[in-house]
This record gives sequence, structure tokens and C-alpha cells, in this order.
Amino acid sequence: NDHSLEYPSSPNHMDWISHYPAFSSQLTDKTKMVEWADVGCGFGGLLMALAPMFPDVLMLGMEIRTAVTTYVSDKIAASRQAELLKHFPPPSTSTSNPSLLPKSPVDIPTSIQPSLAHEEPTLHSGDTDEASSNPSEKKADDTEESSKDIPGGYQNVSVIRANSMKHMPNFFHKHQLSKMFFLFPDPHFKVRKQKARIITTSLLAEYAYVLRPGGILYTITDVLDLHEWMFSHLSKHPLFTLIPTEELEDDPILLAVRTSTEEGKKVERNKGSKFVACFTRVEDPPWD
Ligand code: SAM
Repeated sequence: NDHSLEYPSSPNHMDWISHYPAFSSQLTDKTKMVEWADVGCGFGGLLMALAPMFPDVLMLGMEIRTAVTTYVSDKIAASRQAELLKHFPPPSTSTSNPSLLPKSPVDIPTSIQPSLAHEEPTLHSGDTDEASSNPSEKKADDTEESSKDIPGGYQNVSVIRANSMKHMPNFFHKHQLSKMFFLFPDPHFKVRKQKARIITTSLLAEYAYVLRPGGILYTITDVLDLHEWMFSHLSKHPLFTLIPTEELEDDPILLAVRTSTEEGKKVERNKGSKFVACFTRVEDPPWD
């Protein structure tokens, strides 16, 4: 199904301005780039929680399922629109005209409701990704000017449909990212399927390439076996070092990691356990 995925031949060919039009000048002069990536973002709960808390940080969700990506993209567009209307109400706004009121974030259509925690992702062989995964495209023209004046306003968050296990270096320059999130990744229980896990030794080399020294890779799962797998692969990797969880105890980002995603909320409802492991990307070792 990767044939239908769109990805740039190199990060220089990626059009970020259409994703973050309010940041067009900083993106053009390269004083700003995407810094945080939520890998397998699902329905986008983490980024929707973090975006207003860190309005100057450009953050991106990466999701392989077309319908889920479109859902997140629509949610971002609706939230941007709602913020705009809050700050710039149309002159003749009358509450009697419901079409002028900000739309509430879209409901999750039943056809793409979050799958059960331990289900494999649903990949439809016929997916052609016709839908735009770019939330700003639809409304860029009329919102670009006014959105520049709104602090936050979800202008700093976007989503792309991507296979993060294949195309990370197509989207990001070396050391571009300062945070990567792997929240409740698919567990791939069966031993013969474990190689499909999103954290493996060879993939960690790619993640270390796009993550800058000092950057943080966050993992959380409710599956003990997957936690032990991620923990041991990361611990053994020379470019990552464990951050004791106590050190991040007051980190509002870690709180969002634990509580804000759809999968995390489901685990909470089911009174499941959550296993967290965070690692820093260390400096490249000097050549011998
Ligand atoms: N992080 C979200 C959360 O906590 O609610 C979603 C967790 S869900 C169990 C795992 C997500 O990763 C699914 O939405 C799935 O489609 C996505 N995914 C799986 N493999 C992927 C890949 N190679 N690249 C991008 N997304 C992927």
C-alpha cells in the first residue's frame, strides 16, 4: 500500500508552508522547522493537547491510515477556524445564524473509531489517499493573514500520512527534531511479527539521525512485553541513554504523554497499566 504514499525525495522538497501558513516567513528563512514528531499519532490527542501549551513549536503527527489522517487533518482545520472566529468574529455575527458559529471539533466517524488497543492497524488495500492530509490547504487563503496575529490557535500543529518506518529521512534533516513520541504503538504480539514493531535496532539508527543530541524519545505502552522490547532495544543502542522517569516527573509533556491520547484514555477506562520509558539522544561518539 506504500505505492499510494506521498513523500518528498528529500526534506528540501517538502512544502511545510502549506502546513503551517502562519509561520511562512520563518519557514522561508529557515529560522523555524518542525521540531516534534508524534509517530503513529492515531487520532491526534497528544498534539492537540500540546499545541496550545507550546505555540511556538512546530509539531507534526505522522499516521499511516488514510481515514485517520484525514480525521486529524479535519480536526486541526476546525480548531484553527474556531480560534480564528473567537479572535475575529465576523462583523455581523448574530448568534441566531448557526452557520457562523465555530464548529466544534469533528466527531470520530464510527467507521474509523479507535481500534481496540491490541488490534493491528487497519490498512485498506484500496486506499489511494485522495484526501488531502494538509489541514491548512482548504482554508489557507482566507486565514493566512489574520492567523498571523493569533497566539497559538493550533497554527503550530499539522499531520501527514506517512510510513514512519520508511520515510523519516525524506521528511526531516539530520538532527532536525528535538522530540519524538511513540505512544501506544501497535504491539505485534506474535514472535514472527515482532520485526514489524516500530522500534527496532535498525529503525533506531534512523530515529537517531533525525533526532538531535539532547533530544528526547518518549515511549509509552500498556503491553509489558512491548515495553520490555522497546526498553531493551533503546538501552542497548549506543546513541540513546535512559532518562530516569523521576527526572521527568514534573514535565507537563510527560503528563500529556500519559493522559492525552485516545489510546491512553482507553487504557485508563479499562484500568490498565501504563509503562513509560524516555531516552535522550546522546552526542555522536568521536571517530576512533
Ligand atoms: N499514538 C496514538 C494513541 O496513543 O492514541 C495511536 C496509537 S495506535 C495503537 C497506533 C497507531 O500507529 C495507529 O493509528 C497506526 O495506524 C499507526 N501506525 C502503525 N504503523 C505506522 C507506521 N509505520 N507509520 C505511521 N503510523 C503507523
